[in-house]
This record gives sequence, C-alpha cells and structure tokens, in this order.
Amino acid sequence: MQTMTNEEVKRAADFFTKEIAKLADGKSLRLMEVCGTHTVAIFKAGIRQLLPENIELVSGPGCPVCVTPNEYLDTAIAYSRKSDVIITTFGDMLKVPGSSSSLAIEKAQGADIRIVYSSLEALEIAENHPDKKVIFLAVGFETTAPTAAAAILMADEAKLTNFYVLSAHKLVPPALRALLTAGDSHVDGFLLPGHVSAIIGLEPYEFLSKEYNIPAVIAGFEPLDILQSVYILLQQIRYKAAKLENQYSRIVPERGNLAACNVLSQVYQEADAVWRGIGEIPKSGLVIRKKYQAFDARLNIPIVVEETKEAKGCQCGNVLRGLLLPTDCLLFGKACRPEHPIGSCMVSVEGTCAAWYKYGAGRWQV
Ligand code: SF4
Repeated sequence: MQTMTNEEVKRAADFFTKEIAKLADGKSLRLMEVCGTHTVAIFKAGIRQLLPENIELVSGPGCPVCVTPNEYLDTAIAYSRKSDVIITTFGDMLKVPGSSSSLAIEKAQGADIRIVYSSLEALEIAENHPDKKVIFLAVGFETTAPTAAAAILMADEAKLTNFYVLSAHKLVPPALRALLTAGDSHVDGFLLPGHVSAIIGLEPYEFLSKEYNIPAVIAGFEPLDILQSVYILLQQIRYKAAKLENQYSRIVPERGNLAACNVLSQVYQEADAVWRGIGEIPKSGLVIRKKYQAFDARLNIPIVVEETKEAKGCQCGNVLRGLLLPTDCLLFGKACRPEHPIGSCMVSVEGTCAAWYKYGAGRWQV
C-alpha cells in the first residue's frame, strides 16, 4: 500500500467509500475498533465523515493505560513512596490518577520515578543502582509483553537481584469474548488491532465468527487500510458470512511472531485479570511463572496499598465497553481534560476520551 501513488490512493478511497455506502443499506450498524492507534487514525483521517450516518464506529478496550485498574496504580504509587525503590515506567502512566494520587504527583514530591522507553532501559537502571530495588511497570497488551519477558530473562541471566516487574499485561482476545458474553455492547463487527495481531496471529480470534457469528478483520493503520477493513466488515454483514479476515497481511503473519510468543510463554502464564470498567476476565492477564518469581514485585516487596476508590462521575468503564461515547460523560471537556484528567481514558494520547477531546472537540462542539 505504501507503493501506491497519491492518485491511486484517492481512487481506491473513492471506490471503498462508494462501495461502503452501497453495502450500508440503511440499517444501523456498530463497528468496534479495539486499538488506541486505530482510534486516533480514524479521527486523523476523518473516516467517520466518509461513512454513511448509519455506520457507527465505537472504541473498545484497546488502550492499555485506559484498561489498567486503579488498584494497580495505587500499588505502583505505594511502591514509589519507599525510599529504596526506583519506579521505571512508560511516560503515559505518570498522569493516570490513582485513588488519591498519581505517579506525577509522587514524582513532584520527590519519589524516584523514571520514564523509560523500553523494559531494557529499566534493566540498565537496575544494573547501575545495585543498592536500590528497581521496579518496571509492565503495562500493555501482547505487543509489549514480550519485551518485558525478555528483560526478565536477561535479568535472570545476569543474576540481577534488584530488578522487579509489576505486571499488568493484558490479552485482547479474552476481553472481546467478555464483551460478547456480556451482550450489552451490541457490536456488529470488530476492527482488530494490527500490532497485537502481528504477535499472536489469527488463531486466537477464530472464536469470534465460530462461536459468536461476529465479522472480524485485522486492520492496518493507514486511512485506506481502515476504509478497506470497514468495507470487508460490511460485505460480511451484508452477505451474512461472518469470518475472520486479515486486511493487514503485509505485516501480520497467519501464525504471528513465534519467537516473541515463545519468549512470552517461557516467562509468563495466563491468569485472570481485572480490567477497568469491565471487571475480572478469565485468563485475560499475564503473571510471571514460578521459575522467574524472584522478579515479581508483588511477591518480593511487601507493601500496604490504600483502599481503592473510583473517580466520581467518570464513565471510563462504559466508554471502554462501547456503551457510551466520551461526549456522553458529563465531565468530558469540563472537569476532565488532558491537562487535568479525571479518568485513565483522558490520559494517553491513544485514550478514547483524549482522542475525542483532541480530534473531535470542534466537531462535537465541546
Ligand atoms: S471524560 Fe474523563 S471522567 Fe469522563 S469518562 Fe472520560 S476519562 Fe472518565
């Protein structure tokens, strides 16, 4: 697709837009994207404006920062208050509000919290500070989990005794199953995440069409990728032929990335996990296997965590399940803005509320 000329891209976009309009057929349909990168790409390319009014695009639980529950934040904050601990984290996590504080507030008050761009950087900090316990906040889906696993293997190899991981890794397919089982999201088709799929391949999504008769397409991130993916979904819906298709086959191999999956399963095993706004989902998270438990922060560094409280009025849970749009939240754009987020969905640039605020504010007249 990168090799197409601008004129070819325009012609293809026109074709998909017209075909989508023909296939839309007047019936109201809800298509859910499950990836923050898609959420932003849809806004940036103005995809909604190209679709017929009866096709609604809603965001699902596709932003890792958004789905991380308060209890995890509160635990990280409690660790950051220990004088012998260095917290290492991706920058997105800093501003996420916990029950009564945030890592940004703790950092401003003197906690040693360092932004890193990979788990390997956290490992380096541990090597350079043998007198400190260095905790890496491992948040993310199948895309980032393999690098956290690799860091643990390297720490084991190097016999590091001061490197720990606080794992909140989540798995996408069990969350989709939970949404469909709950039945209140009324999704007619899924735009599946390209990056996650590049790791796990196609097989983990097979249940969508086989068990729930839901159309699904693994989608790329260019505007044309998204338009073509919507077109593929509408074809499946129109002809009542729900199946799993791979629009992003130039990046997503059918069996995924076997090397990454091997590293992942060497270090982690599936476990039940709590998702913000959705609750506990069976086998939707990753915990460190017994062999590497010396690197598990929760098991090795005792901590007392305050009682978890949810932000009053925040609708993140309903937004993440596609039940409400960010603009349905009474706090959106008023008390809750990117510079002063009340809920996690307003923090990350790929958070649903943040994307709606940044790219949709004019259109939605906030
Ligand atoms: S606008 Fe803010 S308070 Fe409302 S749901 Fe989004 S993050 Fe939560």
